[in-house]
Amino acid sequence: MSDYREDSLPWLNRLPPYPWTPPPEWAGTPFAIRRVYFELNRETHGNDKCACPACGYPTLPHRANGGYCPLCFWEDDRQDDPWADYENSGPNPGTLNEARRSFAVTLCMLSLDDSDIPDSTMQLIRSEVWRERQRALCDAYDRLMELSDPKDIAQQWDIIELLWKQNSSGQARTPNDTPSTP
Ligand SMILES: [Zn+2]
Repeated sequence: MSDYREDSLPWLNRLPPYPWTPPPEWAGTPFAIRRVYFELNRETHGNDKCACPACGYPTLPHRANGGYCPLCFWEDDRQDDPWADYENSGPNPGTLNEARRSFAVTLCMLSLDDSDIPDSTMQLIRSEVWRERQRALCDAYDRLMELSDPKDIAQQWDIIELLWKQNSSGQARTPNDTPSTP
């Protein structure tokens, strides 16, 4: 059984590469720029969070332990380059590269073309309210890259945490939640 799993999910028994080097497909993209930035500046800018392999933002307390990115919903099951085009049979609906491409469009790992996504989730990720919240979070994380004073960085993390709190007290935001009426 372990052989089977190793063949079908070759990243399972390996730690993800660190620091990550963008493959040619991603080099120079906003995703690659922020992922590299937040990996290299985890201690000063990342609030001790690891960069998500799907969205590149510092959202994960650990890497490769099966945790979920609260921003893009990717489950961090160790999949990373050079296995980012492998089909994953786990809770992620497609490959890591598909999730990265979707994030650039939908602000989460889900694709609008995926017919397996429940209607309620599709409604949520299409809603302007939800998209605005996602954008506000991305902007707040992006702003970290412009700051150098530790006080400013700490203040920016306060803003990020406030945004998360506002989100959790408002409309449901994960694909497993049922969207509530505003
Ligand atoms: Zn993510």
